[in-house]
Amino acid sequence: MPFNLCLAEREEAGLRRRLPAIDKVTGRQLVSQGKTFLNFAGNDYLGLSQAPELIKAADAAAREFGVGAVASPLVVGHQAIHRQLESELAEWLGLDAVMLFSSGFSANQALIKTLLSKEHTLWQDRLNHASLQEAGLLSPAKMQRFGHNDMAALAARLKDKSGLIVSEGVFSMDGDQGNWQGLSGLAEQTRNWLMIDDAHGLGVLGKQGRGTLSEQGVAATKVHIHMGTFGKALGVSGAFIGGSQALIDYLHNHARSYVYSTHLPPPQAAAILAAVRLVQGADDKREQLQARIKQFRDGAAHLPLTLMPSDTAIQPLIVGDEQATLGLAQRLRERGLWVGAIRPPTVPKGSSRLRLTLSAAHTQADINALLAALQ
Ligand SMILES: *Cc1c(COP(=O)(O)O)cnc(C)c1O
Repeated sequence: MPFNLCLAEREEAGLRRRLPAIDKVTGRQLVSQGKTFLNFAGNDYLGLSQAPELIKAADAAAREFGVGAVASPLVVGHQAIHRQLESELAEWLGLDAVMLFSSGFSANQALIKTLLSKEHTLWQDRLNHASLQEAGLLSPAKMQRFGHNDMAALAARLKDKSGLIVSEGVFSMDGDQGNWQGLSGLAEQTRNWLMIDDAHGLGVLGKQGRGTLSEQGVAATKVHIHMGTFGKALGVSGAFIGGSQALIDYLHNHARSYVYSTHLPPPQAAAILAAVRLVQGADDKREQLQARIKQFRDGAAHLPLTLMPSDTAIQPLIVGDEQATLGLAQRLRERGLWVGAIRPPTVPKGSSRLRLTLSAAHTQADINALLAALQ
């Protein structure tokens, strides 16, 4: 056999991964092997995955357009529902142009591999998502990683007008925010381009849920490339890249995972469009989420736990050891709570953690149950 498929080493190190036997996720709860759990492991921060408006939109689009896009966007896949979504998305976020991708992973790969060549440098926060890190490794550009949110370290490495700085809006495994005043200042001074991956800020933060830049009072025009996903607070799946019309035209021509891939199914585009409309007026849901975050952090402050400096829905509890993290997740499961046990290589070695995620769909009683179980 030409391949080594052995997982024993991973198993021994507590790093072996297995698909959990989930029957279905129903919002604040999930069902596994017939048993119901409180769900603190998803990214459905506003509970939109179960919203009647989205379900109705997907259903109506399936009847009008069918369930598949039938082709890649440049052939005949890009239909009226996709155009409508792009146009309302661009207007909501104040962007000149946007394009849709089936996933955030493929959007990040497409962008970085298409845009950068070997004379460029890519500066990445060292806690950036795997899709960004991997794209950087696969691109011909020189990649430089800087310490998490360390603006001085980044400034020391930057060269004028020679590439792209990428950071996250809200860091997916830590819950803290990027320093967008700092990043945009450095990009401007050095005439490099700047990209935000706002997978976890979109819909949750800022005016009308426009995301981390709006939250921090940084104009959208200070950031050259905007990436966001529809699989977190928007409750569906898929992603977009936004920026100047010239950038989007260029990607339409050169981004291989866009050109050679079947377009988003119309019911998915319709559900995302319904989410985009709903989320702009969802201050009540955002307030509800903030109330749950505050309830959790106030309650956890009385427990012998170390919270991370996160004011978002992502509340990690660092454990350190891999096996201990799995053990804690298992004990919470025995008490009817499902939380993510996150281990390397998703997070740095020695920082395995329980990743608790809160949602506007959670009730006050749900958070109390979580706190009681943690105690
Ligand atoms: C989830 C996520 C992605 C990938 O998006 P998918 O649509 O799930 O493929 C990219 N970047 C960050 C920061 C993410 O959290």
